[in-house]
Amino acid sequence: TERGALLSLDGLEVRYGGAIHALRGVRLEISDGEIVAVLGTNGAGKTTLLRALTGLLPAHKGHITGGTLTLAGTSLLGLDPADVVRRGIAQVMEGRRVFAELTVEENLRTGAFTRADKRAVAADFDRVYSLFPILAERRRATAGYLSGGEQQMVAIARALLAGPRLLILDEPSLGLAPAMVRRIRDNLTEINRQGTTVLLVEQNARMALSIADRGYVLETGRVVLDGPAATLLADPEVQRLYLGIG
Ligand code: ATP
Repeated sequence: TERGALLSLDGLEVRYGGAIHALRGVRLEISDGEIVAVLGTNGAGKTTLLRALTGLLPAHKGHITGGTLTLAGTSLLGLDPADVVRRGIAQVMEGRRVFAELTVEENLRTGAFTRADKRAVAADFDRVYSLFPILAERRRATAGYLSGGEQQMVAIARALLAGPRLLILDEPSLGLAPAMVRRIRDNLTEINRQGTTVLLVEQNARMALSIADRGYVLETGRVVLDGPAATLLADPEVQRLYLGIG
């Protein structure tokens, strides 16, 4: 059965100031229910892509200068970050930025700030506490005292409390020990199984492609390769650049 396009970018152009052309005609589609990985070396444009998706470009003096960007058929161009969250996109920022002085539960509550439906928010609290039992145990603990892996769980749980259709994660495995990377990977698989579409931007290509349905490779602002995760894993260029093989 055909799955509808949830997120669709076509010919997307982004510039910083007048001179720096950071995205050059990017075409990318994510269907409802997929896990999609975006790979790219430093400076390829991954962060720029995420800023374009989440309304954060203006804060970095970036501008979309061409192309289209839609969620479920509706344009996202010109929306500010809070509007993007209301439309159904939540992002886990790189570096698991939790509010260190707040408790786990207070952190999670900030994720639901755009939502009026108290009953749906309560259901999502139950959902994240069953996904991350350690956070239920530590709900009154100060977030700044949790381990790096636990803080990453807080960051993911907080994003889920926005009730997103599309969950975006920027380098969720960065700086985590292998055992914790595996846990986060399993958490993402489960989150997706429960119905949330996932966009994963990772330096850790092995981790990302092990759970993704499809992937895109960005180089100097262009998509140079895309396809099923298994195809990318078998691609000699991907193996050389991202998997340290060959
Ligand atoms: P990294 O993994 O190092 O963050 P990236 O793939 O996320 O790399 P971007 O940060 O999106 O790449 O950068 C893409 C291009 O845009 C680079 O040439 C970068 O120097 C430039 N760039 C990014 N942010 C800005 C900015 N605020 N002002 C000017 N140029 C920028």
